[in-house]
Amino acid sequence: MAKTIFERIIDREVSADIVYEDEHILAFRDIAPQAPVHILLIPKKHHARHAAVPPEDHPVFSQLFAAAQRVSRQLQLEKNGYRLVINNGPDGGETVPHLHLHLLAGRHLGWPPG
Ligand code: AMP
Repeated sequence: MAKTIFERIIDREVSADIVYEDEHILAFRDIAPQAPVHILLIPKKHHARHAAVPPEDHPVFSQLFAAAQRVSRQLQLEKNGYRLVINNGPDGGETVPHLHLHLLAGRHLGWPPG
């Protein structure tokens, strides 16, 4: 299977504006931001999407959310708030088949989402 764009970013074949990295997670700015702050958090281990993560890899969910909290602190977003989003599959609006968590902030976000 060909690498996704996110695997190419993990492997440093494609550049990205990286804001956070640890053993399991990489976080970088979205190339087409939907808010003044738009960060993508991705596991370094490939999973196509939320629905595809097997039980033995469920720790990735806490790793993603913990990293998002660290990034929110690093970027001083706690006071005004932020939104975490996972798009899963066609109806979810997923475009890159590599599990990722969007962190959006910097403006008031409407609800319900489009
Ligand atoms: P999704 O639609 O939930 O699958 O999100 C994929 C996101 O990846 C979109 O918001 C894209 O703008 C973003 N994206 C695609 N390619 C890149 C890239 N090379 N660098 C940063 N973000 C990207």
